[in-house]
Amino acid sequence: MKIGILGAGLTGLELGRCLRRRGIDFVIFEKEAQIGGLARTIKTGDYYWDLGVHAMYSKDKNITDHYLSLPLKYQHSRRDVRIYHTENNKFYLVDYPFEEGVRDLPLNHRMECVHGYIKTRMKGRKDFAHLKDWIDNCLGYGIAKHFMTPYNNKIWNCDLEYISMDLVSAKITPAPVKDFLLAALGKKVVGRRYQAKFIYPLDGIQAFVDETARSFLNQIRCDSAVVELEKAEEKWRIVCENGQVEEVDRIVSTMPLVELLKIIENPAVEREYDVLKWNDTHFVMIGLKEGCAFNVMRQCHWGFFKEDEIFYRITMMRNFSEKFLPAMVAEITNKGHYTSLNEEDIKARVIEDLLRCRIIEKEDDIAAVELRFVPHTYPIPTVGVQKVKNALTDILQQEHIYLLGRNGHWDYINMDGVLQKVKAFMRTQFEEGRMLE
Ligand SMILES: Cc1cc2nc3c(=O)[nH]c(=O)nc-3n(C[C@H](O)[C@H](O)[C@H](O)COP(=O)(O)OP(=O)(O)OC[C@H]3O[C@@H](n4cnc5c(N)ncnc54)[C@H](O)[C@@H]3O)c2cc1C
Repeated sequence: MKIGILGAGLTGLELGRCLRRRGIDFVIFEKEAQIGGLARTIKTGDYYWDLGVHAMYSKDKNITDHYLSLPLKYQHSRRDVRIYHTENNKFYLVDYPFEEGVRDLPLNHRMECVHGYIKTRMKGRKDFAHLKDWIDNCLGYGIAKHFMTPYNNKIWNCDLEYISMDLVSAKITPAPVKDFLLAALGKKVVGRRYQAKFIYPLDGIQAFVDETARSFLNQIRCDSAVVELEKAEEKWRIVCENGQVEEVDRIVSTMPLVELLKIIENPAVEREYDVLKWNDTHFVMIGLKEGCAFNVMRQCHWGFFKEDEIFYRITMMRNFSEKFLPAMVAEITNKGHYTSLNEEDIKARVIEDLLRCRIIEKEDDIAAVELRFVPHTYPIPTVGVQKVKNALTDILQQEHIYLLGRNGHWDYINMDGVLQKVKAFMRTQFEEGRMLE
């Protein structure tokens, strides 16, 4: 049996690694020239940078053991992450997560957060319909106003009423009431402990994906965008934009589900579903001249921005690996009026906002600026998406097409989630023999 894997991001590569260990034949098709998908490291001159933060951590010890077992040199870090907050032209670097960082707020804002929090908690509601409902009626008006509403409005390419509570359970890990109150009283409380320490390969996150793929590089076809899937009796014919054609018995798709739906002929599958919403992101890298350093936030790993800066997050690459030159990456969701800005305007606006926030002291410090537009960075866990995903999974599996990964199965997961999903997939499809049925 031969398996065709669509996409050489971490999911496709980890699946390849597991299949190879079991002696199952496969071939991977990747649209880009470089493997790694969202977990790529880009080199611009002497600057190394990732598509946003790529810190390696997990709640699952099997995953952290796996990371550490690889022959990679890591930098071990204690998270330093801040939220940029202003009042009356003064700025504050609030500790992250925001609920544990309230002690860093000006007193009047801290009061609003505490008042709002206690008021909603006294109502005792446990169930919430969507993200907006949870922010307003669990966290309260102060936290909503000073962080959660503006930040989430900025990052998501979607109204907050459409985002399901899956986002909260999967990603947010709300602070225990006691921790919030201690933080409000001025104590340093470390939130989201599972990611308070993390590792990062000294040569960039690319070193991790390259290591994952090391034993089967000859089975990966880069620059091979899949544009058509044709059924050929019991087999599938994979057709690439560059003219390659390959017949396989089974397909595992890790490419964005919405893109897969466009290239597959199946009357039972619609081409578009309202609930399949996602973010596309502009990443802007700024590298500094030799001898220059960042100013505000220079000690941070990453920082969040909720006000009218064009970016919602910046990442300081030098603090991830001491081997890197001082460079930072700003992330901008492609939404609202930013959609109509051209690349030069976006870069200019990033620089303007970095200067205004005093992240960079003067424009003359800048040596390099580069922009990459990356589609499908965040599959949004919308209300109702689970039902559509389950239906599509069933229909496609009957046709021997399997969905896997962050964009492939529309799971808002991190690298550790990818490894867990691939492991579970191998167990159900191969050890229990479902794919062979
Ligand atoms: C901004 C940002 C920050 C993140 N930070 C962290 C973090 O700190 N820690 C962490 O653990 N995780 C983080 N993640 C998550 C992590 O990057 C992903 O979970 C992981 O990389 C997803 O891998 P994937 O293979 O499922 O998807 P992808 O990486 O999206 O891979 C899909 C692949 O399919 C390819 N493809 C698309 N269309 C086609 C086609 N037609 N034909 C062939 N190939 C195609 C794409 O080019 C891509 O290589 C972050 C993600 C983002 C976007």
